[in-house]
Amino acid sequence: MRDLVILGSGPAGCTAALYAARAGFSPLVLEGMQPGGQLTQTTDVENFPGFEQAVNGYELVLSMRRQAERFGAQFEMDECTGADFSCNVKRLETVVAGVLEARAVIVATGASARWLGLESEKALLGHGVSGCATCDGAFFRGQAVAVVGGGDTACEDALFLAKLCSKVILIHRRNALRASKVMADRVLASPKIEPIWNSEIAEILDPAQGHVQAVRLRDTHSGTLRDLPVNAVFIAIGHQPNTAFLRGALPLTPQGYIITSGVKTSAPGVFAAGDVQDPAYKQAVIAAGSGAMAALEAERYLLQ
Ligand code: NDP
Repeated sequence: MRDLVILGSGPAGCTAALYAARAGFSPLVLEGMQPGGQLTQTTDVENFPGFEQAVNGYELVLSMRRQAERFGAQFEMDECTGADFSCNVKRLETVVAGVLEARAVIVATGASARWLGLESEKALLGHGVSGCATCDGAFFRGQAVAVVGGGDTACEDALFLAKLCSKVILIHRRNALRASKVMADRVLASPKIEPIWNSEIAEILDPAQGHVQAVRLRDTHSGTLRDLPVNAVFIAIGHQPNTAFLRGALPLTPQGYIITSGVKTSAPGVFAAGDVQDPAYKQAVIAAGSGAMAALEAERYLLQ
């Protein structure tokens, strides 16, 4: 049986692993489906303290992982699919290792990109519809693309795509961006980005052709529809917490976030850190900080 298993390898999981490893608990980290978490899908990170110049998101989280490994944390390409936290010994069902047992668990499984929920979006996923501009933007070099959303992710995606594409249409359902002022100002100043306000995507065209040709926009005030030709659509409308595998093992909010007091869940010995329990801030630095808190609480619990 393990002392501590950490689920997730983003900033929260890696920082928890670093603290737990330095405390001598040899934590096992199950990396999950997206090793490194959401940071691996961003480009430049400008707001992680300690980096005067922008740092690449992938390199930042890789460096966190190596730092934790240096002190003995073990990372495995595995994913938790079910959990039972009702006894002192916590049981985790995993894809590769089967059933794992641990005295303490830190859940840091983060969040995943949200989708519009349209049939055409599903049908054209990978054929012009994408949830990751940094992964797929280069396929649409010199072409016209759309980004949906009004938050920091949408702005970051639009700015990234503006470097590659001939034109970026930013579709937002309201008439003001939710993004931080610095990001919004950059977007609004870009000659290549055209914001389209008060509009939502009614349909992505054309599943029958097998690739994206246009978006059908609905004006949120008048309800009128119009088609706008684009070669790709990048969905950037926020995230949902990765908690489906918990299935009744822990109380969740109606939106699916783990309910915590600090980083403690309602199950003794089970802690949660990062975006999986944070509907408010969703910042890498805060995820890292809560990972450290979770490891310190786990240490206290294990030494009782
Ligand atoms: P947000 O929740 O901040 O924004 C989501 C955006 O998508 C909102 O503008 C929302 O509209 C819109 N939206 C939501 N659902 C729909 C829908 N069904 N149809 C159309 N539009 C929809 O998510 P982000 O991923 O942008 O950001 C998450 C967090 O990560 C934030 O705290 C952000 O600050 C942070 N972040 C920071 C970065 C940085 O600092 N460099 C980079 C990326 C993210 P509405 O505004 O009307 O609600």
